[in-house]
Amino acid sequence: MSTIDWTQRATALRPDGRSLIDGQRVAAQDGQTFDKHSPIDNRRLGAVVRGQAADVDLAVRAARAAFEDRRWAGKPPAQRKRVLQRFSEKILAAKEELALLETLDMGKPIQYSLAVDVPSTARCIAWYAEAVDKIYDEIAPTGDSALALITREPMGVIGAIVPWNYPMIMAAWKLGPALAAGNSVVLKPSEKSPYTALRLAELALEAGLPPGVFNVVPGYGHEAGEALALHMEVDAIGFTGSTRVGRRMLDYAGRSNLKRVYNELGGKSAFLVFDDFADIQRAARTVAGSMFFNQGESCNAPSRVLVQAGIADEFARLVAAEAPKYAPGDPLNPTTELGALVDETQLKTVMGYIDAGRDEGAQVLAGGRQARAETGGFYVEPTVFAGVNNDMKIAREEIFGPVMGIIPFGTEAEGIALANRSSYGLQASVWSDNINRAHRVARALRAGTVHVNQYDEDDITVPFGGYKQSGNGRDKSLHAFDKYTELKTTWLRID
Ligand code: NAD
Repeated sequence: MSTIDWTQRATALRPDGRSLIDGQRVAAQDGQTFDKHSPIDNRRLGAVVRGQAADVDLAVRAARAAFEDRRWAGKPPAQRKRVLQRFSEKILAAKEELALLETLDMGKPIQYSLAVDVPSTARCIAWYAEAVDKIYDEIAPTGDSALALITREPMGVIGAIVPWNYPMIMAAWKLGPALAAGNSVVLKPSEKSPYTALRLAELALEAGLPPGVFNVVPGYGHEAGEALALHMEVDAIGFTGSTRVGRRMLDYAGRSNLKRVYNELGGKSAFLVFDDFADIQRAARTVAGSMFFNQGESCNAPSRVLVQAGIADEFARLVAAEAPKYAPGDPLNPTTELGALVDETQLKTVMGYIDAGRDEGAQVLAGGRQARAETGGFYVEPTVFAGVNNDMKIAREEIFGPVMGIIPFGTEAEGIALANRSSYGLQASVWSDNINRAHRVARALRAGTVHVNQYDEDDITVPFGGYKQSGNGRDKSLHAFDKYTELKTTWLRID
């Protein structure tokens, strides 16, 4: 366990909230800023650039110039690899600073910023760096009289718009493949978590990434985000966020230059437990751990827990007994498991869903209340509802807080139908000791990722993304290169 006094370090921190454009830290064109507070105790962290269309335009022009003169795209892949490997090494070297910024910005426990967010970010960048000089293009199997080359080219300027729940990791999932493939990037972090994105851009410069290739403009979604998504010189938008804003991305593309839009959106993931699964204690431990990780602010949180009727009561009792292990605590304390929600708005949203669950007749088996209000921060107890049905608001809508609902079902077919009765399709899991059933149900579940008898296995080598209104395209793995490259066919005549 870390022996660092994080509280003391936090007091000394003075984060820089200026944009990073064309290799320089700059104030907003019109000088506007907004105050950023920490959800831990509502302390003010500093002033952050409130980017507008003019700031975004400056960043996009810098990115476009960097792309057109091929200062990055024109480098041999082996050289791009080396720069990005150094970038990854610098992320690891700045581990404590980045982890502290992430925790102060959005409230997650410092132990997880250190053990998950920073290493995953570094590994993502390193993985794409290592991949890029090992990918070959193709020659089509045509006849003697011609040669057809099928090649991948960088797309140009990528606008990345990311959320606050895993600020660095979500940025890295865009940056890794986009930069490795030779694109330039303008990143708009969430207004709720701007600081680590800005530090990442500085570290990339230190690693040798040419100025203009990776720019960051902080600001609000309806200002900087909208300007980026509408910009005529942006070739693609890599968006991660809510389904509500994902719809807007498609609209912005339609109203501007038909830029490619890749949406990674919300979820309401089903966790399906059959009565033939013997170790229900392990299933209960897993669902609690996965649901309450990151304060429940995870797109793939298993918030719909479907349990076969014969074991539903016992399962609910076991999960409720797990909940107190995730009592909210000070995120800067290295033993805390559950930190602060990102802000007061999110706190009110989550408490509103808890009220809605009660009003619709579900029973609170654990939690259900706000916590640690005396700190000035935004905390909610880990909450377990039983007696939920799939039509209740808490079963249909993404809550994005530490709240799960247990929904009983009868037959296998009913379980599958309930699991699939959702507008989302990001992730699902099936728990069964019957290998035929496990395969059958896994095939029937309409989700981008399905787990069998576990929930959290994860690696940069596998794609991640959603069916239905959870999005399109895939982050992670070699498939992510598809999003940030154009496929070209070149025909040559052979006489
Ligand atoms: P959000 O949609 O409110 O915001 C996401 C980003 O979009 C932010 O940078 C925001 O400033 C920007 N934005 C907001 N309004 C905009 C507008 N009108 N025009 C342009 N940009 C705009 O989402 P959030 O609250 O930051 O994040 C939570 C959501 O993200 C949840 O729905 C969660 O499921 C989803 N998410 C999905 C994945 C995935 O991989 N599928 C991963 C993490 C989070």
